[in-house]
Amino acid sequence: VTIERKKVMWNGWGWTARADHLAAREEIWSWLASEIGMPSLLATPTRPLEELTIAEARLSPSERRSLVAILGADRVRDDAFERASHARGRSYQDLVRLRAGNLGELPDAVLYPRGADEVLEVLAFASEGGIAVVPYGGGTSAVGGVNAHAGGLRAIVSLDLSAMDRVIEIDTMSGVATVEAGLGGASLEKSLAARSLTLGHFPESFEFSTLGGWIAHRGAGQLCNRYGGPQEWLLSAKLATPRGILATEEFPVSATGPHLKDLIIGSEGVFGVITEARLRIRPAPESRAYQGYLFRDFASGMTAIRQAMREDIPAAMLRLSDARETGFYRALDNIGRETSIAQRLADAYLEFRGFDAHAALMIAAFEGTSRSAAAARRGFHAIAGRLGAVSLGNSLGERWLRDRYRGPYVRDSMLDRSLGVDTLETAATWSKLPALYAAVRNTLESSIRQSAPYPAARGIVMCRIGHAYPEGASLLFTYIFPRAFDGEVTQWQSIKKAATEAVIAHGGALSHHHGVGEEHLPWMMTQKSPLGLDVLRAVKRTLDPKAILNPGKLIPPE
Ligand SMILES: Cc1cc2nc3c(=O)[nH]c(=O)nc-3n(C[C@H](O)[C@H](O)[C@H](O)COP(=O)(O)OP(=O)(O)OC[C@H]3O[C@@H](n4cnc5c(N)ncnc54)[C@H](O)[C@@H]3O)c2cc1C
Repeated sequence: VTIERKKVMWNGWGWTARADHLAAREEIWSWLASEIGMPSLLATPTRPLEELTIAEARLSPSERRSLVAILGADRVRDDAFERASHARGRSYQDLVRLRAGNLGELPDAVLYPRGADEVLEVLAFASEGGIAVVPYGGGTSAVGGVNAHAGGLRAIVSLDLSAMDRVIEIDTMSGVATVEAGLGGASLEKSLAARSLTLGHFPESFEFSTLGGWIAHRGAGQLCNRYGGPQEWLLSAKLATPRGILATEEFPVSATGPHLKDLIIGSEGVFGVITEARLRIRPAPESRAYQGYLFRDFASGMTAIRQAMREDIPAAMLRLSDARETGFYRALDNIGRETSIAQRLADAYLEFRGFDAHAALMIAAFEGTSRSAAAARRGFHAIAGRLGAVSLGNSLGERWLRDRYRGPYVRDSMLDRSLGVDTLETAATWSKLPALYAAVRNTLESSIRQSAPYPAARGIVMCRIGHAYPEGASLLFTYIFPRAFDGEVTQWQSIKKAATEAVIAHGGALSHHHGVGEEHLPWMMTQKSPLGLDVLRAVKRTLDPKAILNPGKLIPPE
């Protein structure tokens, strides 16, 4: 299999062998405590699996035997580790519950099919027996997308697709790769890189997420300005359903009515199991430049991104942090470390040029042929210059590239020390973004204060633009807060509810790239009309008549 589950944390992020790289920097933790108004941080370790009582699996011995007959004995697993590690995804709420041993419903078995035929057999068996099936890619869902729910059925199986990891064909002449959907991001890019090709989809969860998960939850990679998301690079797919395989159109273009693949992108495992996909692949970039810019404030950085999109400057990424995020990362870098003379001179120069606490950092990425990347860089440099930004050279950009999958590990370091940290993402048109940004930031700050365990406690709320389009952009908020140990999930829910309502009231999308899962489900009716939801329900009834697939996700009950 692509990822050996035992090497990955069952109740946290990432490799078990990975060290906490902030552990030795005590000064950071005391700074964080004072920033959020806590006298000091507490050690809040996780509960070990051995301490937990795991409920009996509900499959009967004969059902288990039937599954073994379909898949083989080593591919039907029901030990405590497998069941607990497939109980939930990796949202903030999931982590808080997993760490406390509050697992909720558990899958009764974890199944590892090796191909579409086995998936079809499992679906037929589960439909017949009234067993819920949760498609599971890398399990990195940030919205409760893989959480085990029986949805009124008798039992639950988690269908772990990591053994479906073959690259079936690479048609270099057409630029099309045909790949099994359980393939992990890193393995996919490695196979493509061996032929100087790339898909270019790099979510922050890249180390652990899979192709099927990227498609099923309609995600976005860090470089999606250049490479697009599944709506651009997915050419066709095969979906195993309880009624058989739904194969979508394979032509590069066809004017034959609505395309069926559009039902698969964002289907979140409720219509079927994506077994195979054909992908638009591109030559690996010949040239790469990742560069830092400092803008006077978030608003002028935002204008630069909008102008670049309007002028068709093909940047691979324009990632702009607001002043709070810029200051936060600067503090993490500098606290407790001696400032070099070069750094002090650079700071003095920036101060002289009028850059103050409002300054906003951008990492801009340019990739492609040497010529196209250089032209994009020149084009953006001119826009940034006109708006009074300064170029900070390549070192910050290169460091960002090296560390770009590190962020999620810091979340665990914070959870180990009594801090909560979550992200919230949305998208809106350019004209709505400034008011949306202010409203969500203010709401997060006030709801954190209201739900805080100490009177003087406050949150750290920061934001960045990660992805941009000609007509608008995404905002991703990160918020750090002191946890209320007498009701951690309730505390998080109250913050999430207030912020989500602010998003919707100000014309933002419920999600830009995390999807719906169970955590965004209560607001789905604000995103689709009643008729729109009926269309989705009709598709669900057609493909999954016994409603066994991923209960409780994406489509609200009637
Ligand atoms: C710290 C962190 C950072 C993240 N960063 C990003 C980011 O930068 N960009 C981004 O887009 N997302 C991001 N995410 C969200 C998450 O990683 C993505 O949703 C990811 O693509 C999910 O892939 P996965 O393979 O882990 O899918 P899972 O988490 O296993 O599943 C996600 C959903 O897809 C369904 N599914 C999975 N595989 C299949 C299949 N083969 N057929 C049918 N349904 C299937 C599941 O049932 C579930 O509903 C992040 C999450 C975390 C926790």
